[in-house]
Amino acid sequence: MKVRKYFRGSGRVLAFVFIASVIWLLFDMAALRLSINDVNSQLLKEIIVKQRAAAKQQATKRTHLVNRVGFKQSIQKVDLDLETELKLSNKGDKKVNDVNKKLTKFDPAIKDNEFNKNIEYKKSGVNKLGDGKAVGIIKRNNENESNKSKPAKVQASYTKTPIGTIAQVVLKNGSDGTDIHVKQGMQKQHASELTKSGLLQNAPRKIPADVPNMTKAPSGAQEEKMQNPDKKFEDKASHDNMQLEKQHNHSKERTQLPNMVKSDKEHLKDNDKILNLLDRRYLNKSDPAIVKHQVQPTMKAAVPQRVEIKGNSSSARKSSMHLVMQVDMTQSPRDSDAVGQFGLAAVVPKDKQEEMLRRWNEGHFNVYLSEQIPVDRAIPDTRPQTCLESLVHDDLPTTSVIFCFVDEVWSTLLRSVHSVLNRSPPHLLKEIILVDDFSSKDYLKDNLDIYMSQFPKVRIIRLKERQGLIRARLAGAAIATGKVLTFLDSHIECNVGWLEPLLERVYTDRRKVACPVIEVISDKDMSYVLVDNFQRGIFKWPLVFGWSTLSEEVIKRDKMKDSDPIRCPVMAGGLFSIDRQYFYELGTYDPGLDVWGGENMEISFKIWMCGGEIEIIPCSRVGHIFRSENPYKFPKNKQKTVERNLARVAEVWLDEYKEQFYGHGYHHLLDKSIDVGNLTDQIQLRQKLKCKSFRWYLENVYPEMDAPLVRAQGLIFNLGARKCLALEKGVLSFDVCDLSKQSQLFNHTWMRHLQQQQSCIGVRERESVVLEPCDITKPNLRWLHKSLILSSDLVDHLIVEHLPKRTCLEAGAQTGCLILSVCDPGSQFQKWQFTHYYTQ
Ligand code: UDP
Ligand code: MN
Repeated sequence: MKVRKYFRGSGRVLAFVFIASVIWLLFDMAALRLSINDVNSQLLKEIIVKQRAAAKQQATKRTHLVNRVGFKQSIQKVDLDLETELKLSNKGDKKVNDVNKKLTKFDPAIKDNEFNKNIEYKKSGVNKLGDGKAVGIIKRNNENESNKSKPAKVQASYTKTPIGTIAQVVLKNGSDGTDIHVKQGMQKQHASELTKSGLLQNAPRKIPADVPNMTKAPSGAQEEKMQNPDKKFEDKASHDNMQLEKQHNHSKERTQLPNMVKSDKEHLKDNDKILNLLDRRYLNKSDPAIVKHQVQPTMKAAVPQRVEIKGNSSSARKSSMHLVMQVDMTQSPRDSDAVGQFGLAAVVPKDKQEEMLRRWNEGHFNVYLSEQIPVDRAIPDTRPQTCLESLVHDDLPTTSVIFCFVDEVWSTLLRSVHSVLNRSPPHLLKEIILVDDFSSKDYLKDNLDIYMSQFPKVRIIRLKERQGLIRARLAGAAIATGKVLTFLDSHIECNVGWLEPLLERVYTDRRKVACPVIEVISDKDMSYVLVDNFQRGIFKWPLVFGWSTLSEEVIKRDKMKDSDPIRCPVMAGGLFSIDRQYFYELGTYDPGLDVWGGENMEISFKIWMCGGEIEIIPCSRVGHIFRSENPYKFPKNKQKTVERNLARVAEVWLDEYKEQFYGHGYHHLLDKSIDVGNLTDQIQLRQKLKCKSFRWYLENVYPEMDAPLVRAQGLIFNLGARKCLALEKGVLSFDVCDLSKQSQLFNHTWMRHLQQQQSCIGVRERESVVLEPCDITKPNLRWLHKSLILSSDLVDHLIVEHLPKRTCLEAGAQTGCLILSVCDPGSQFQKWQFTHYYTQ
């Protein structure tokens, strides 16, 4: 009754007014949410399109200026003979090399021009954005209706880090009941204001200690040091005719490999071995389970646009597909004026030049500039246009991203991790595993733990002693839980849409190993530079990695689009996705490989020869800082380490072609001076997997490779005696030349043998010519001939390799037998010619 009283007379009016205003308020709030969301997505979309267009234009302009340097540097042999050989065989590439040389010059004039362009661009960018304020870039591609009605929430906070203040912005689905940091009256505000308001409401995060002064002794950022050691090595394969299998984009039944599967027990044993490498003290420290600040930089914007696949008869899967998601989240509003923003070239102010040079050696790139650049800077989307229309399956497998590092520069390590967190669809990124390969820098210990603890997906493991990148990757793989392993270097930036196209290939066929296009982050100005299309990884003797562009002819013949996967004989190294189980079936990497070098050859030969495929996926792009030198120490001598690794690879995988490897400058490895370690496991693995021969690999995967089994072949004609060498019943003599006679046919092999069947011509006690059973370890059986000889007036001579004084094979004018004499360029009796030469 009492209550009723209140609803009489003026009470009724009051109640009506109250209810009406509540309803009005509710309507108002709903409208406000919608309009903020619309305004934001619209603004952000526009900004992204503008940035992308401008940055793409800028990057395209530069593409002709910068050439990607070889990913792996070759360790060239010490003796001069090979250098001569290489020079000779690279004559045709002189022009390219000259251009390269010019372009690698650290030319301030060019940089200034670049900078001016950038300033212009930046200014116009700012004007177009209206107020020039910092803008939070949040890509909202494919946002659908249901999303709009559940606006994303922004949660932001400051994190002070050694490289500056990071603002952490979290977006959550509005329907989950948590607060939205939006105040009344904000609907007219700029997107940046929205995030700013969010920022202001949060208390500062835990602040890690500052990075200690990392400066080392003055560096020599001299030009020579920055030059590409592989410049000599340019592929002559502009006639790259590889038969390119046309790839399908749609799903295909996954093929299982019978008889190749290691038992689970075996896996566990292997993993245990690897885990013993770990310093278990650290395992818990960064265990996601104990991470306190669980700030997840995920967002709702990455809703795929679904496409149902119709009539795909061959497909065992019936899953639908969507356009590749274009996730690009930021930690804070992006400042369009920030150094290096949008992947543009950054410039070192005049008064900082000295500091820049001083710090160069910390990473063998512009460490000073790297530190000025935001950890989550935008980079131009360099994918071919058609990639924007390519579809990927809805049920792609998850991946564990593995970064191993040793003494990596703080800012580049962070940028690498952020680029993965920010540009990967969250549901596909199972975890990021950072494997610290026993770094010596303090900032990579507690500071890194603290910094990464804000990202629950990031796990850090520490190795007890330096293992090298091969075993460090294996340690990461051993604890990975994603279906696919994705290995990345610790100085990269993943581009928009990088992950799904890689996973799609693995999903299509688990034996496909997918590599992104590796683009260039300039070591000098940190700009992001796109590379030419249609490039693939190849090798040249002695197992030196390089890039080669497919020829126009092949591209036309196979009607290749710039977004089609490219079969790749050798992967560059650090960046690829592989089905985790398949990685183990293949026996992982050879764990006997040390520190760095040769592992890309090993895994590439293994993949191809044992039933898999390596592809470069043009719709996936990752920038990498190519450095002229390794910034870390090699526990043993670098040259010896790489040589030993390569010799292991050659012994296990090259079959009869290993002579080519040793013959291109690694003879000294045969003198048993190095111990390649035990190869039994690797050889057994190859047998167990029933892998194909190296000849098969050359013929089917890399037919353009010129790989003759001998250097020269046929009759050996003496210009003085005008007769040919003959070997009959164990006796050497001269005879009238006759190609049909077996006794006159010899090889000059890669081992530099003068060989007929198992017999080799050699030298005994410096004076007599003898016949001996061939043995690649014996230096007294080696003869230098043609391009192996430095002085051009001795090219037709056969010179004893192991004697210090130049001693030549001579046809005795009177005696008609073979003698040894001091080399004489004028003597016709010391000149020999084979019927066929396969090298210059
Ligand atoms: N790395 C490592 N331990 C080593 C050598 C290298 O963990 O002993 C890491 C390194 O920090 C990098 C990756 O392995 O993230 C590849 O090495 P690098 O970038 O030097 O190779 P490149 O790109 O020159 O081939
Ligand atoms: Mn690298």
